[in-house]
Amino acid sequence: MAVDFTPAPEVAELAERTARFVRDTVIGVEETHDGVVPSEDVRRELQAGARAAGVFAPHASPEFGGHGLDMCGRAPVFEEAGYSLLGPLALNIAAPDEGNVHMLEQIATEEQKARYLAPLAAGDIRSCFAMTEPAPGAGSDPDALATTATRVDGGWRIDGRKWFITGADGAAFSIVMARTTGVPGDRGGATMFLVDAGNPGMTVGRHIPTLDESLYGGHLEVEFSDCRVGDDAVLGEVDQGYRYAQVRLGPARLTHCMRWLGIARRAQDIAVARASEREVFGSRLADLGMAQAMVADNEIDIHAARGLILRACWELDQGRNGGLEVSVAKTFTAEAVWRVVDRSLQLCGSLGVSGDVLLGRFLREVRPFRIYDGPSETHRWSIARRVVGRAGKAGR
Ligand SMILES: Cc1cc2nc3c(=O)[nH]c(=O)nc-3n(C[C@H](O)[C@H](O)[C@H](O)COP(=O)(O)OP(=O)(O)OC[C@H]3O[C@@H](n4cnc5c(N)ncnc54)[C@H](O)[C@@H]3O)c2cc1C
Repeated sequence: MAVDFTPAPEVAELAERTARFVRDTVIGVEETHDGVVPSEDVRRELQAGARAAGVFAPHASPEFGGHGLDMCGRAPVFEEAGYSLLGPLALNIAAPDEGNVHMLEQIATEEQKARYLAPLAAGDIRSCFAMTEPAPGAGSDPDALATTATRVDGGWRIDGRKWFITGADGAAFSIVMARTTGVPGDRGGATMFLVDAGNPGMTVGRHIPTLDESLYGGHLEVEFSDCRVGDDAVLGEVDQGYRYAQVRLGPARLTHCMRWLGIARRAQDIAVARASEREVFGSRLADLGMAQAMVADNEIDIHAARGLILRACWELDQGRNGGLEVSVAKTFTAEAVWRVVDRSLQLCGSLGVSGDVLLGRFLREVRPFRIYDGPSETHRWSIARRVVGRAGKAGR
């Protein structure tokens, strides 16, 4: 089957408008605050700007005020938004809200859509996604899920501890993965629950200090102790949580790739500008072979990542699982983006590690991407199992 990745004219136009908005409005705010959103007021101002520029919520369906882009359509627009650390927040496509909007559109009931999805897609509230647990609970291995939900009169009782829950501080609700069948170590069944902020059984605890700081709302510990919710808090069907996690995680991994690809391009632009004006040893830095190699390797990484992202997006847009393609794109992009930012910083010399350019901030921000959304090793393990399994089936 022929595959054409040329964006539709309206997608290309939206990507262009997003690039202009990020350049003219967002980058100034980002540079003032060192890439870290300082307050709710700034978040709301950025989002008002995106709405005025007609670029807000490209992923949400028109029914919820968005542009309704499919995955291939999201790729160029999210990349342009990701050119600034604050672009995704401005467009309301930052993690974890963007992935939660996507999943709620797929599986929430009409009542849940009205109550949670509509205000989330509009940027009126924020959310978080609570899956990971401190050891020995769920991390790279979701089967280790230890948080439980047990049936009680009138609903459910949730007990357990989560950590690294991005955006939990200030989130109006959490989507919580809890075990409803089986024991840690066997897959059993998990269920997703919508838990409102202020539920007396949920405690949002410590902000975990991390290398990265730009994801709004921080990364937090969250504890559930005799946390009571009604049957209307169940998202989708009981025991289908692992299946729904894939509905969220496949696209969310790719949208993370798209956004970080934007930062890789920005780093390359900063480095190329510097190498074009900096004179060393009687020559422009950009004319010296080893510097050229770094510029060229950056460009190869950026192009290859973009191609792999689009290929995986296309699989998902065809309604296929795309697990292999998503793992390939995620692993390559997370590592390529790190290489590009690192080389760019190197090309800029001492300027690169200074606070006068944001390359040091970018480096800190992109490093954890090799761990969240599945560490590189987990994806390589999964890729190898699929490939070896395929060879086995073919009798090779
Ligand atoms: C910045 C940040 C934000 C996050 N936000 C969220 C969030 O919002 N919600 C949420 O639920 N979680 C979140 N997480 C958690 C994230 O999903 C987990 O960190 C990730 O799944 C890995 O789990 P773990 O940290 O427990 O690592 P572990 O499971 O302890 O794994 C440790 C290491 O083991 C290695 N490894 C893993 N699998 C294999 C394998 N098959 N073979 C060989 N080696 C392997 C890898 O090197 C891995 O880094 C976030 C994490 C970070 C860093």
